[in-house]
Amino acid sequence: MPAEKNHDNSCGELFILSAPSATGKSTLIQRLMTQYSEVSSRLAFSVSHTTRPPRVGEIDGEHYYFVTQQTFDDMIAADAFVEWAVVHGLHYGTSKAEIERLQAVGNDVILDIDVQGAEQVLRQQPGVPSIFILPPSYQEMERRLRSRALDDSEQIERRLINARREMLCYGSYQYVILNDELDRACEALAAIFLARRFQRDRMQTQIERVLSGFEKPSLSFHAGSTPTSGGSSSAEPNDETNS
Ligand code: ADP
Ligand code: 5GP
Repeated sequence: MPAEKNHDNSCGELFILSAPSATGKSTLIQRLMTQYSEVSSRLAFSVSHTTRPPRVGEIDGEHYYFVTQQTFDDMIAADAFVEWAVVHGLHYGTSKAEIERLQAVGNDVILDIDVQGAEQVLRQQPGVPSIFILPPSYQEMERRLRSRALDDSEQIERRLINARREMLCYGSYQYVILNDELDRACEALAAIFLARRFQRDRMQTQIERVLSGFEKPSLSFHAGSTPTSGGSSSAEPNDETNS
């Protein structure tokens, strides 16, 4: 997807999203992108590299960059990854080029990465907002994994075993969302992205634009005009900075 320039010059933030397999990360991201235009207009999904073969319906360059083990190893050697990990026996990584491409236009960027990748990113950039998605229960997660029917039985068993270890990592994350009811979970996710945009340091461009209008007061006070308060005859009412 081509990256479009956002409305102001603020630099987009990275966001980490992790969860055990089949908890609903992809479903939530997809929903956020299609149903929350205020969030999605400035949000981009970081496409990872993986040695996993594509599933039915997955598109190279959209869901993942599907690469050979040799290509992945060459990228590790070239220090091309922000983070990478072996997940469920396969290689996955976030390339520096992908992040740079998306952040260059000021978009927020979602990293859908596992707990090992999250740990690496947080070690490099401790301030990155991190969100852990909880399944409603082990049984429901297993049901989602099996009924999704996109992985072979060996992968399913491996993912179920790994899920227990992944769940124990929730404590490293700043936010936790329970994905029981999809609409409610997606709303919670959207709220996090929106709230982060109103942090003071991300509002700096807009603050400065408004402030610049305060440097030369546009209000003129004509002789004979009535001061609004305090009975002062000064042309600059309530000018506490000069007192
Ligand atoms: P992940 O990306 O975390 O591996 P998916 O998004 O592929 O998980 O979701 C796994 C399965 O669970 C999919 O079939 C999806 O439709 C289903 N699913 C996701 N969220 C919910 C939910 N809140 N309630 C019921 N089913 C869900
Ligand atoms: P799946 O094969 O189901 O698409 O993904 C399996 C796991 O790999 C998920 O936990 C997903 O978050 C993780 N993953 C996807 N891309 C990356 C990545 O670039 N880096 C890391 N560390 N994990 C990733």
